Amino acid sequence: MEFVTVVCPYCFESVEMELDPETVGELVHDCGVCCNPWRVRVRRRRDGRPVVDVERLQD
Ligand SMILES: [Zn+2]
Repeated sequence: MEFVTVVCPYCFESVEMELDPETVGELVHDCGVCCNPWRVRVRRRRDGRPVVDVERLQD
């Protein structure tokens, strides 16, 4: 497992998120602090390191 730190678009806390090393694409993940749902987009750099964007699933 790898861990990425993202900022929640609802409560603006920095949250560590667990990511499977093969994960690429879009997934839904609930904030561990405020429990609101995120839309998470995972891309990979050439060296395999993840680039993660988080946005609100709904307003
Ligand atoms: Zn949150």
